[in-house]
Amino acid sequence: MPELPEVETTVKDLNKKIKGLKIQDVWTDWAKMIKSPKDFNTFKKEIVGEKIKKVERRGKNILFRLNSKTLLIHQKLTGHLLIGKWILKNKEWKSNNGYLKEKVNQYIHLMFYLSNGKMLGLSDLRKFGKVLVVDNKNLENLEDIKNLGPEPLDKKFTFNKFKEVFKNKRGKIKQVLINQTVIAGIGNIYSDEILFEAKIHPLKDVQKLKKDDLKRIYQAMKKILRRAIVLRGDSMRDYRDTAGKKGRYQEIQKVYQREGKECHRCKNKIKRIKISGRSGHYCPDCQKL
Ligand SMILES: [Zn+2]
Repeated sequence: MPELPEVETTVKDLNKKIKGLKIQDVWTDWAKMIKSPKDFNTFKKEIVGEKIKKVERRGKNILFRLNSKTLLIHQKLTGHLLIGKWILKNKEWKSNNGYLKEKVNQYIHLMFYLSNGKMLGLSDLRKFGKVLVVDNKNLENLEDIKNLGPEPLDKKFTFNKFKEVFKNKRGKIKQVLINQTVIAGIGNIYSDEILFEAKIHPLKDVQKLKKDDLKRIYQAMKKILRRAIVLRGDSMRDYRDTAGKKGRYQEIQKVYQREGKECHRCKNKIKRIKISGRSGHYCPDCQKL
């Protein structure tokens, strides 16, 4: 699933490429992904003719700020937004330009036609993506937004605030880090990478973390997320940027999806454990419980 660095990369791209354009039409073959308004024609009426004033990110949500409304897209498991030109042939979108030909970019189930002749498509193999339109005045009350924890890269999210967040939390550190109501935007990839960097075992009870442990996690969180943004996200799985190109974080991943491979620090083998249905990857030597 795209996490903060991937969503941030997409949002930066969108601001560069489509800010100020109008939405001229919308197409879908999977109206189920549109959660509100549920009727596709009503959804269409809500956004056609609207200008994209800017694009923002909150947690893993992409917010297209229109005049008095916001179009929210959550890419969920395999979704990613692409900008380009396609032609619909036999119910499939075809494109001849470069990276858009890659298979992972060919599962377009939602297409926006823009006023400069380009198109914005949501390629989503598993079709779990979530799309909705909301009045700006109701945005903050939206379930998807109001329960989100602080933004980890916000300058105002100081170490003291980070410590506060953990004060009354229970559970294993990995689970707490990926809980969107605690901190927004961190998922499976970056929680593994942050904990390796901080030398903290993923199953460590948060109540047992010392101030120094929390400091290392805080610093690792900022460092890893910033580096991943510079590298334009992680494309080990389905994520691609809006040109359909891969990010490069997977080239420097230390533990995520590296089960059985050598730890870059101590040469021991990386292990994988299950934590309530999720996988956690760690080095048993560098990250002791
Ligand atoms: Zn190690």
